[in-house]
Amino acid sequence: MRLEKWVESVLRRFHRHGFEAYAVGGCVRDALLGRTPHDYDITTSALPREIRALFEETVDIGGFGTVCVILPQGRVEVTTFRADGSYEDHRHPDKVRFGVSLAEDVRRRDFTVNALCWDGDRVIDLVDGQKDLRDSVMRTVGDPRQRFAEDPLRILRLYRFAAQLDFTVDPETESAARRAAPLLAGIGAPRIGDELDKLLLTPRPESGRAVFPLLPGGFAAKGTLSDLPPDLICRWAGLFFRAGKDEAPAVSFLRGLHRSNRIVYGTRDVLRGLAREDDIGHLLWKYGRETTERILHIKDPARLDELRAFLSSGRCWRPEDLALNGFDLLSAGVPPKQIGETLSRLTEHVLSHPEDNTPERLRQLIKERQNEKDQ
Ligand code: ATP
Ligand code: MG
Repeated sequence: MRLEKWVESVLRRFHRHGFEAYAVGGCVRDALLGRTPHDYDITTSALPREIRALFEETVDIGGFGTVCVILPQGRVEVTTFRADGSYEDHRHPDKVRFGVSLAEDVRRRDFTVNALCWDGDRVIDLVDGQKDLRDSVMRTVGDPRQRFAEDPLRILRLYRFAAQLDFTVDPETESAARRAAPLLAGIGAPRIGDELDKLLLTPRPESGRAVFPLLPGGFAAKGTLSDLPPDLICRWAGLFFRAGKDEAPAVSFLRGLHRSNRIVYGTRDVLRGLAREDDIGHLLWKYGRETTERILHIKDPARLDELRAFLSSGRCWRPEDLALNGFDLLSAGVPPKQIGETLSRLTEHVLSHPEDNTPERLRQLIKERQNEKDQ
């Protein structure tokens, strides 16, 4: 295997100055699998101030002495060899200890396939990670019970990596993960939410399905999700819909995980639309184009062609497509406060009567309505 030249040049700079340095974690795993790494981590014997002294541009990140080295070609996160202290709170190590060996640094890492190192020439494998990589197996480094108890987020990472890499989970690791699941209640909701987002965006989220019943307030996930586009709202909505979860519990689940309003309301709209039978025009009118697409992907992908045909036909489905705009309505005598509602009502009308989308006919409809009201 090889990493990008500039990453290897960073390794060599450490070596030239007498430090040990290895690429580690996801980048080595992905490179060995023939995938392109999306970021690079380096672990080194150099202390943070020694790392900073070796490179022109660096930024400190996190609270534990990780230094981001910035080069014109990209950036790498460099961390001094360390051993994690105890995890009293099941969340963060109380302290980290520098001045340890590579072997100790590797032992604090979560899974064997994430603990492989690359020194620029050779793979250094202290945990039989290459065998697990060949067998497509996720397994913790060391005793799984202890590792999940130290940091229960690893339970979610386990299923996320299994889904991302299409790996199976070693049975001992799996049973320890299930047993440690109650500890997830002590983990910050946003961290859980971020991990689940990542899981849902993998190519085969259904292989991480086992995680959902383990969550606080969790539920049995059913069906596939890989048939849906890799869009967070579509996948969340698909997950809830196929698990038989309605709008209200879905919204409170997402809120509980501190998901953004965009995600919460976006998912709510899709579930709302899924719960009702509507033709394409009405779906578009009520929910807009994006939500309608998601609804069809989940319920009726065969109708996506119908949606495309509708959209390219130029038929009216939103107020902007009407032959009259808000100013026209004002001059037609519609009170300012009723403009929005009137535009929406007219839009719905022309959905079923496309021939009525002319200025004259719309003005006539407004008049008829005003007369009705006056009577
Ligand atoms: P990717 O970036 O593709 O999601 P990754 O393996 O690089 O996967 P990161 O979250 O970037 O994962 O972490 C980098 C490395 O740090 C991991 O490969 C692992 O060795 C270690 N690591 C990260 N989080 C933990 C954790 N919670 N417990 C133990 N080790 C961890
Ligand atoms: Mg990474």
